[in-house]
Amino acid sequence: MRLVLLGPPGAGKGTQGRRLSAEFGWPLISTGDILRRAVAAKTALGIQAQHQMNQGLLVGDDVMIGLVRERTLEPDTHGGYILDGFPRTVPQAAALDAMLAERGQQLDAVVSLTVSEDAILERLAARKSQESRADDDEDTVRRRIEVYREQTEPLIDYYRQAGRLVEVYGMGGIEDIYKTLQDALGVGNN
Ligand code: AMP
Repeated sequence: MRLVLLGPPGAGKGTQGRRLSAEFGWPLISTGDILRRAVAAKTALGIQAQHQMNQGLLVGDDVMIGLVRERTLEPDTHGGYILDGFPRTVPQAAALDAMLAERGQQLDAVVSLTVSEDAILERLAARKSQESRADDDEDTVRRRIEVYREQTEPLIDYYRQAGRLVEVYGMGGIEDIYKTLQDALGVGNN
C-alpha cells in the first residue's frame, strides 16, 4: 500500500504511521526525520535545511521532491510505503502524482487526521518535554501551525476533489484512532 498521512503538526501522523509500519511492514518515510538526521550528520542536505527547519518554515519543494524520489526507489519500498510529512505543498503533491504516474503507480490512500487546535498545542507541549525537538518551542510551533494552514491545508481539497481523501478523526486514545484508521484503509482485522 502506498499511503500519505496528512494532518497538522501534532495530529499523530508519526504515532499512527509507526503502528501501521510495524504491523504491515510498509516503511514509514518521515521527511522530517530524514532532514533531522541530515542536520545531525551535517550533510549538505542538513546544512541546507537547518535554517528553515529551526524557524518552522518549509524546506524548498525541489529539495524535498528529490529526496522522496530517491527514497521511494530503495528496495524496502517495493511492497509500498507510508509518507509522513510529504507532500506539504500543492507543487509537492503534483510532483508526487507525476512521479508515480511515470512509474506506472498510484497512491492507494490519502488519510487526513483531523484534530482540534487545542489538542495540537497540548500534544506538542507534551512532545517537547519528551523529545526536545529544536522546533517545538512556542513561537516556532505557532509558525509551523500557520505554515500548515497556509501551505499544507490546501492539499486536503486537492485530494478531496480528486476523490482520494479519507478523513479519520484523530482525537481520543491512540488505540481507538488506530482502529478507525485501519477500518478506513480496509486493513482492519475485525
Ligand atoms: P516534521 O517532522 O514533519 O514536522 O518536519 C519538521 C520540519 O522539516 C518542517 O517544519 C520543515 O521545516 C521540514 N520538512 C519536513 N517535511 C517537509 C516537506 N515535505 N516540505 C518542506 N519542508 C519539510
